[in-house]
Amino acid sequence: MDNSRDSGTADVVVIGGGTGGYSTALRAAALGLDVVLVERDKIGGTCLHRGCIPSKAMLHAAELVDGFAEARERWGVKASLDAVDWSALVATRDDIVTRNHRGVEAHLAHAGVRVVRGSAHLTGQRTVRIEGAREDLAPGAPDQHALGAHNPTTGARPESAPRVRDVAARRGIVLATGSRPRTLPGLQSDGRRVVTSDDALFAPGLPGSVLVLGGGAIGVEYASFHRSMGAEVTLVEAADRIVPLEDADVSRHLTRGLRKRGIDVQAGARLLDAEVLEDGVRARVRTARGETRTVEVERLLVAVGREPVTEGLDLAAAGVGTDARGFVAPADWARLETAVPGVHVVGDLLPPPSLGLAHASFAEGLLVAETLAGVESVPVDYAAVPRVTYSSPQTAAVGLSEAEARAHGHEVDVNIMPLTAVAKGMVHGQGGMVKVVAEAGGGQVLGVHLVGPHVSEMIAESQLIVGWDAYASDVARHVHPHPTLSEAVGEAFLTLAGRGLHQQ
Ligand code: FAD
Repeated sequence: MDNSRDSGTADVVVIGGGTGGYSTALRAAALGLDVVLVERDKIGGTCLHRGCIPSKAMLHAAELVDGFAEARERWGVKASLDAVDWSALVATRDDIVTRNHRGVEAHLAHAGVRVVRGSAHLTGQRTVRIEGAREDLAPGAPDQHALGAHNPTTGARPESAPRVRDVAARRGIVLATGSRPRTLPGLQSDGRRVVTSDDALFAPGLPGSVLVLGGGAIGVEYASFHRSMGAEVTLVEAADRIVPLEDADVSRHLTRGLRKRGIDVQAGARLLDAEVLEDGVRARVRTARGETRTVEVERLLVAVGREPVTEGLDLAAAGVGTDARGFVAPADWARLETAVPGVHVVGDLLPPPSLGLAHASFAEGLLVAETLAGVESVPVDYAAVPRVTYSSPQTAAVGLSEAEARAHGHEVDVNIMPLTAVAKGMVHGQGGMVKVVAEAGGGQVLGVHLVGPHVSEMIAESQLIVGWDAYASDVARHVHPHPTLSEAVGEAFLTLAGRGLHQQ
């Protein structure tokens, strides 16, 4: 790393150190660019501190709890579950987050990315002002021996004194300020009785009953988690089915699986009002059948989507606009570049077809860094980005739903293979399915949709199938291991290719 460089300039300034921002910074630095990464809170952003990682850690614990019931009820294991110690669960979860956090910080330090703590805003097309800027000290700095080294006693990273700093970006600025939970009027979080997905992590304990408002991936995951932890759960979704962006058969199988576990799934339903009580919330829900039901719960978890974070960024100073919903839409999706040359955008700040998913933001970060470095890169193929809900049962999908494929004018062949049609599916005994949507007459595979146990780990082959424009017959040539759940994917393709073995 060049210690003599002017701290007032960089090749690239990245604003926001979440998955989108830090992946951009890492790749740009690896390509030899001098990168300043500005983060006002914690490197790792939503995914690491409030999203993917803590929620999946908790869902892993939930899976272990569910295992007790299955062991007892199906396998004659004489085990009983005494209680879940929430503080111990939180401690393990937070330890995983902390270790990941340190890992990402160490990567950035090792790559030579200059991480500046502070709040950034634009002052022009190539200039950024950082308020309250504190920079991790560079190697060789008088009071420090290594960039990114943590104080072994406190774990703290040495920093410079805070000040206002202006940085001019020679090649470009990357906007990566992400998103936050959307709230509804009158349903502001109080961190205890009305909570968002952020607050649910830091709530004092596990509730005995929850109403989850919103049947997207986040709402479904939290509904599933709380049910595993023994809560009475009502899941309310305004659309006529939960996970409404997925294939209708995914919604159907997921609804069935959640109901089987005792979750009251109310799709096509509306929250009429909610009264916050001393020790909970009384909510009135209009069901799809037009009945009004009163539900009293200890906690109302609002999971009605996420909104982009742009306030205070002063986008106008660079002439960057937002769309009607506040997202920053690129003028050129192939470079993720706004209408202002050199100002790029990644992650949750992007509108659809970007997906508000961490792995999409990684791909976007790679693309933008490579674009800024002037090396060849390929646009993100959003249709081939997998989408997963880590509930029990899980859902995982890639490509077009059956309805989308038809709406795009495709004539399609569809095959639905129950997971219980393969032996390992029976062993798990949780139902589920593989649905394949392909161009009619043995054509290209357009979408693969999975519901069931561990399907999050099974979607990777389907993402290659869809991403590589494979045909059912291409897949059917390849032998899947027996007995596995993934065998159901192989069987679904065998049938579609006219060579079905176990499927009637
Ligand atoms: P963020 O991660 O939000 O990062 C933006 C960063 O910018 C923040 O750290 C913020 O402090 C900083 N910032 C904002 N403004 C400024 C400023 N002016 N100056 C300096 N810094 C600023 N995705 C998946 O792929 N898989 C999952 O399993 C998954 N689970 C999720 C579960 C939950 C409960 C939630 C909420 C989200 C989940 N997501 C998941 C989505 C994923 O977390 C996001 O897609 C991802 O975090 C977006 O990354 P980002 O870099 O765009 O934004």
